[in-house]
Amino acid sequence: MKHAPDAGGHFGSFGGRYVGETLMPALIELDEAFRAAAVDPAFNAAFTDCLRDYVGRPSPLYFARRLTEHFGGGKIYLKREDLNHTGAHKVNNTVGQGLLAQRMGKRRLMAETGAGQHGVATATVAALLGMECQVYMGEEDIRRQAPNVKRMELLRAEVIPVRSGTRTLKDAMSEALRGGTTEVRTTFYVIGSVAGPHPYPLMVRHFQSVIGTEARAQILEKEQRLPDVVVACVGGGSNAAGIFSGFEDDASVQLVGVEAGGHGMASGQHAASIGGGRVGILHGSRSFVLQDADGQIQNAHSISAGLDYPGVGPEHAHWAKTGRATYVPVTDKEALAMFHTLTELEGIIPALESAHAVYEGGRRAQALGKDAIVVVNLSGRGDKDIDAVLAMEAQGK
Ligand SMILES: *Cc1c(COP(=O)(O)O)cnc(C)c1O
Repeated sequence: MKHAPDAGGHFGSFGGRYVGETLMPALIELDEAFRAAAVDPAFNAAFTDCLRDYVGRPSPLYFARRLTEHFGGGKIYLKREDLNHTGAHKVNNTVGQGLLAQRMGKRRLMAETGAGQHGVATATVAALLGMECQVYMGEEDIRRQAPNVKRMELLRAEVIPVRSGTRTLKDAMSEALRGGTTEVRTTFYVIGSVAGPHPYPLMVRHFQSVIGTEARAQILEKEQRLPDVVVACVGGGSNAAGIFSGFEDDASVQLVGVEAGGHGMASGQHAASIGGGRVGILHGSRSFVLQDADGQIQNAHSISAGLDYPGVGPEHAHWAKTGRATYVPVTDKEALAMFHTLTELEGIIPALESAHAVYEGGRRAQALGKDAIVVVNLSGRGDKDIDAVLAMEAQGK
């Protein structure tokens, strides 16, 4: 596997496996099973078949003509992960981990979820594979994300409320990492982003790398050359790692990660772990983390629940440090404006997460001028955000 971390899961000085002793055997078992599966033609064929026939891949690479004209600069292409079954990129990873769990003889999938998108994607794959499913979710998120809770329940997943801390994603993930130690013989813990202890950051990138592999071939077919810039939003960083990995070895291609700037970096209310955090350990991995002067984890803020995470995957920390990728914040306001712009100009309602990336893609296309080509990963569709957007705007926020 190209650009793999070392045997301990280190990307440069980031990553690793900072977990209690009880969890270690399960992570070692998982690492071995993943590495064996990744080189097994039968496993790869099952994964590819499922992505094609169930998820609907390859997702199109779409030239956004009216959006391009709007910015008056380079050509903007959108990688349409919003067209996947369940409406976002997350299912690429849950299909991969679900098939791996099955191969390992597990009968239950367990996941953490914030907005509920990863919980739904995991519950979907559990139904597909005939497995049980448990989803840890903060009580506060259960209240805020009721439609996704109903979806998971329809899919016969058990939603387990988490009452510790701020009762949101970071607490659900801590709880899932703890809960996972009790039933490891039968239960497989499906992490939803390139975060957590080794081998998760590597494994999730691997399953999401299909985005970058497709996008690279598609742009070469359409333009006979590589893009100048590839842009993606970064919560934990899985959709970004997926598309970046396809272009990592192309030195001419600039990789730009967009973090949630929330109310602005100066306000302190954001979710930009790279732009505004410090090196620390969260959920078993060393990376950039939002923390106060005492090292306590700080609450992240973003208009989009999917970017609302106080950490970031270790490979992104490494890319930021080496300069292979750059990371910039886009605010709630800017993302909200782009949510409307893309809807009105292209008839595509983007997820608020993805709207952050489209905003930055437009800015880059404008700055680089007509000869440039910019590829933006449209990580998901915005149906889930419509009620929240309308409510916010009715309140005049
Ligand atoms: C969850 C989510 C994200 C953020 O997760 P990453 O791991 O950073 O990709 C982005 N976009 C959508 C649509 C999501 O559902």
